[in-house]
Amino acid sequence: MTKQKTTTGRFGELAARHRFALNPHVDYRASRCPGCARPTRRRKFVLSIGVVPGHIVAMGKDCRYCPDCDVIIAHQDELEDLLAKLFADAAPEVVGNDYVVLGLVERRFWRQHLGRPADQSDFRRHVADFRSYETISESPSLPQSRSKTKKGDSHPNS
Ligand SMILES: [Zn+2]
Repeated sequence: MTKQKTTTGRFGELAARHRFALNPHVDYRASRCPGCARPTRRRKFVLSIGVVPGHIVAMGKDCRYCPDCDVIIAHQDELEDLLAKLFADAAPEVVGNDYVVLGLVERRFWRQHLGRPADQSDFRRHVADFRSYETISESPSLPQSRSKTKKGDSHPNS
């Protein structure tokens, strides 16, 4: 269901946290977790994103989060909309370029530097990489087909 990429090299200097999954499917909104089928929560995270060539930004973004799997799910279309707005004035030539979600930025650091570019080496000290990075490779059908026939057997671990 998910394709896992091993991270090559580190960006953030804080200990790695959470798993991250990018959702490229506009018809799938991850209201239930693709891993465990439990309802996900809406939660705001501050993502650090690198855009080719050489731009690094911090961006507050509403994501879906499954506390059981510790996975953050971000919709690709929303992410790219926000990036396009962010770069519309500052660097319109990079809109549509390749990008990578690097990790999570400390909230306090983000607030202090909101709208102001920070020194990059300083920035990295306030970023935590993800423990894993995945792309949701197909619309998971499990959550929808299961929800009606649940009989208390939905805990695969027991
Ligand atoms: Zn889950």
